[in-house]
Amino acid sequence: MMVVVMKPGAQRREIEALANQFKDMGVDVGVTNGVGCSILGLVGDTSQVDMGKIMLNPAVDRVMRVQEPYKKANRKFHPEPTVVKVGPTQVGEGGVTVIAGPCSVESENQIVDVAQAVKKSGAAMLRGGAFKPRTSPYSFQGLEAEGLDLLLEAKAKTGLPIVSEIMSPKFCEVFEEKVDVVQIGARNMQNFDLLKEVGRMSKPVLLKRGLASSYEEWIMSAEYILAGGNQNVILCERGIRTFETYTRNTLDISAIPAIKRMSHLPVIVDPSHASGASWMVEPLAMAAIAAGADGILIEVHNDPPHARCDGQQSLTPVQFDALMKKIGGMVDLMGKELVK
Ligand code: PEP
Ligand code: MN
Repeated sequence: MMVVVMKPGAQRREIEALANQFKDMGVDVGVTNGVGCSILGLVGDTSQVDMGKIMLNPAVDRVMRVQEPYKKANRKFHPEPTVVKVGPTQVGEGGVTVIAGPCSVESENQIVDVAQAVKKSGAAMLRGGAFKPRTSPYSFQGLEAEGLDLLLEAKAKTGLPIVSEIMSPKFCEVFEEKVDVVQIGARNMQNFDLLKEVGRMSKPVLLKRGLASSYEEWIMSAEYILAGGNQNVILCERGIRTFETYTRNTLDISAIPAIKRMSHLPVIVDPSHASGASWMVEPLAMAAIAAGADGILIEVHNDPPHARCDGQQSLTPVQFDALMKKIGGMVDLMGKELVK
């Protein structure tokens, strides 16, 4: 749906010519002639209408879309919330699902130890990066394919489904085979080729918000995946860039109620990357659950000072256990269940 406002002096023939142009595109047009100003109301599929080109018409004053450009992700056309099923567990309405694990998989001992610890404390899924998007090419890039195999060993020992980040479409096949949830990182949120490819996969996708992306841009990225046929997308708020430098990013709590109003997709929060500081993870996790998040993603490492990536924001298994006890009360307060 769109509205085109004509300039006060627009001639009747100019208005008619424009209306016919839209009709030729298969769009229904209603013309309202007011005192000194006319508007065209466009109803139907206006996805092919180019707002910029309409503005080139000298008789046009303004053009507005009065409907969101996302369809499949839109709550208006899909009022019931989506619950994403992952093996024995799920993410969505009525529950709080906790995903925990190290930033990167480092060794068999490390990932199995962390997996057993977070499972004992009540996490429902294990995370671990095998392919790491690092700012510097000289930083640890992850164990790559071997990391996925170590995650599978940890899964075999704990039963926890595994979440890992994909960075390139060339790995879709191996991720399809080995992981339970495919993560798209903040840096790749607008890698449209990658979004199209994971849209063809059968595995659920955890889509992080881009470093400086609006809600609409983020939902449009989810729309790419849904349009490809994959309906299982979990959105993850992980903090955005602002002028504040005290924290690594700024956690946008408003994203939770806003996204829930705009879309039916579940929303989880990653307080680890949002804050960049382990001591801030607990209050932000509590706030996320209080604001209605469907889950949280927490970095946990068995030896944070020696972690190869993101040690400063990682909780120890003991700290994670304390966090789980603390959030239990908040989950109850929200009338929700901690998802096993
Ligand atoms: C991660 O989850 O380890 C990660 C790299 O996150 P983000 O893409 O949000 O920075
Ligand atoms: Mn990390």
